[in-house]
Amino acid sequence: MLDIKNLNKSYQMGDSSLHVLKGIDLYAKSGEMVAIMGSSGSGKSTLLNIIGILDEADSGEYILDGVEIKDLNEQKAMFHLEKVGLKDWAKHLPNELSGGQKQRVAIARALASEPKLLLADEPTGALDTATSHEIMQFLQQLNDEGKTILLVTHEEDIAKMCKRIVRLRDGVIIEDNIIKQVRV
Ligand code: ADP
Ligand code: MG
Repeated sequence: MLDIKNLNKSYQMGDSSLHVLKGIDLYAKSGEMVAIMGSSGSGKSTLLNIIGILDEADSGEYILDGVEIKDLNEQKAMFHLEKVGLKDWAKHLPNELSGGQKQRVAIARALASEPKLLLADEPTGALDTATSHEIMQFLQQLNDEGKTILLVTHEEDIAKMCKRIVRLRDGVIIEDNIIKQVRV
């Protein structure tokens, strides 16, 4: 589904540059449910945005569903997002959303294009425990039905509801483990 090799990303801030992703290698097969973890500022959103083609890496290789993502102009990028089913993600930054109902609507809307891959940045971030579990149950069900899911979370209990945990620290993957999934 996706194959990332030696991905690097820096942000220019005036004279200085902030190296946010430092040689990320990430391979995910169809059917996986992956939690991307790490403390605030570790590069999780930057990585997810590059995976969703909202942002572009400075160097490295990224193959999404068999297509090399490189120097795509916006129109092409959109064509490919549509093909993989990520177009709606591009129009709605998940951080703008809050509340369990809104999250469900957002996920349902993202599903309308029948995507193979679902990306979610802190989908339970602003929710209480019961609502978080509802959302995770929904995502597990979608994964059971065959959707590949990548989600960012900083909560261990949420990450354990996935099948694999990738841990970032300061822009580097420090851990990548298949886990026994906690069912909601
Ligand atoms: P996380 O999602 O893990 O909290 P981010 O990927 O959002 O981390 O950010 C990683 C680092 O990059 C942080 O230090 C953040 O301040 C910085 N950063 C993120 N986006 C930008 C941007 N557009 N311009 C400059 N710095 C940014
Ligand atoms: Mg973030």
